[in-house]
Amino acid sequence: MSGLEAALAEWRSALGEAHVITEPEALASAETATFATTQRIPAILRPSSTAEVQACLRIAQSHAVPVYPVSGGRNWGYGSRVPPRDGCVLLELARMNRILAYDEKLAYLTVEPGVTFRQAYTWLKERGSPLFITTIGGSPEGSLIGNALERGDGRGPHADIFNHVCGLEVVLPTGERVETGHARFPNAHSAPVYRWGLGPSLDGLFSQSALGVVTRMTFWLVKKAPYLREFVFSVKDDEHLWEVMDRLQALALEGTLRNSFFFWNDVKALSVGMQYPYQATHGRTPLPGFFLDTFREDFGRWAISGAVTAPDEELGALLERRLATAVEGLARRIVLERDADYESPFHGKPSDNMAMAYWRKRNPMPPEPHPDRDQCGFIWCSVAVPFTSERAREACGIASRVPRMFALEANVAFLALAPRCLYLVVALAYDRETAGEDARAMACYQALQREFTQTGYYPMRLGLPGFPEELPVQDDSRALLKRLKQALDPAGILAPGRYGF
Ligand SMILES: Cc1cc2nc3c(=O)[nH]c(=O)nc-3n(C[C@H](O)[C@H](O)[C@H](O)COP(=O)(O)OP(=O)(O)OC[C@H]3O[C@@H](n4cnc5c(N)ncnc54)[C@H](O)[C@@H]3O)c2cc1C
Repeated sequence: MSGLEAALAEWRSALGEAHVITEPEALASAETATFATTQRIPAILRPSSTAEVQACLRIAQSHAVPVYPVSGGRNWGYGSRVPPRDGCVLLELARMNRILAYDEKLAYLTVEPGVTFRQAYTWLKERGSPLFITTIGGSPEGSLIGNALERGDGRGPHADIFNHVCGLEVVLPTGERVETGHARFPNAHSAPVYRWGLGPSLDGLFSQSALGVVTRMTFWLVKKAPYLREFVFSVKDDEHLWEVMDRLQALALEGTLRNSFFFWNDVKALSVGMQYPYQATHGRTPLPGFFLDTFREDFGRWAISGAVTAPDEELGALLERRLATAVEGLARRIVLERDADYESPFHGKPSDNMAMAYWRKRNPMPPEPHPDRDQCGFIWCSVAVPFTSERAREACGIASRVPRMFALEANVAFLALAPRCLYLVVALAYDRETAGEDARAMACYQALQREFTQTGYYPMRLGLPGFPEELPVQDDSRALLKRLKQALDPAGILAPGRYGF
């Protein structure tokens, strides 16, 4: 009997037959991402508790079978559910979907990995909670924990999501269980509200890593602001954008802008509102200049969106005035028309808009979008950029030029989550059903990543096509990370290859 067969037999007795899946259709769908992959998945395990996760990992270790954990499995544009290496069994945590604790006064929510953005939002809403959990621009079916571990980005004052979590419960590849912060002490009242605990802080070790499976996490919630006004400004050209960017950075630093805000270029703004205009371009790709010129005349070159929040109308009006003064003469305010029942994503309403992934598809986005299933081509390339117009301009030059060299549109956004650093995210959207596009898009991604790195802009999040081992490192961190991996995962069974581990 092979190691895999022996492990499957033990997993079946630990989880029950129904939760060890080997049906070819289920495996084929888990092996599909939004770009080309070749990795095969021999089985999917669906544990329902921390104890079952521990059992799964002990069995994996004793038979040296690699496993890859996913929570919501919606890591679209970064690899979906596909493991970095061939032959990894998928450890799918969606059944662990309980909300374990909620405290209104101290504003936190403790959840298992299967809890999705939609579930948490609905749960809070049903209770009439005055609090909200940060939501993302992606799928509401994404998992809070999966997203936070990837250091995802959202809307509101907690937009840098991993910065506002604590009290992780983690199963190590050996099957051991650890808790972070004060959660490791019995009866520790401060476990969900105090991040650092005592001694070395371990939380960071388990984000963007292959060192443990997180089975519980506490998220700090935000109080809904009595005053909330979303804003969208349009900027007509790049020169105006750089000036506005510096001014808004100053507003973020002084505290006038407490929420995340976003700079979207014209292609990105177009691609959330419509699909590629094949008819107007007579089927030609990439988007011809005349089409973008027309859009720019009406709308502008960049859209800047965000929200002003305050504890009362008076302060809100003051902050609005500071914002209006900062952009005066540089940007035009777009008046937003909202339905009466509109709820703001800056108060936690999940966005539900996957249109960007369907940009180059020839059929419309279905009511229940699923980019893997629908053969959407989609790759994110994300780098960190200091929040200055000089750096943003330099990085934007790369982001705008390279995709066009590969006949793709330059879909570019800067995410301002904090006053010091911008996330620059480039979306490479294409149609996997068009011959040759998978290879072209991947070549584009690699060229982008290479040029960013050579210019000093490094990834803040990597998908499967990322090559961390190729990133130049100037210290001993690679050896240190190797030693940590060896210590925590001696058999090398957890997500081998992820983030270079
Ligand atoms: C159009 C579009 C818009 C998007 N917008 C956003 C956005 O605004 N913000 C954003 O952050 N992302 C965005 N995304 C990217 C992505 O869809 C989300 O980040 C999504 O939340 C990730 O999926 P998930 O939460 O289900 O995580 P999963 O797919 O479950 O996991 C993500 C990663 O974390 C690891 N992991 C998951 N669970 C565990 C665990 N319990 N223990 C250890 N490791 C684990 C997995 O191995 C995997 O590498 C967008 C994608 C698209 C296509």
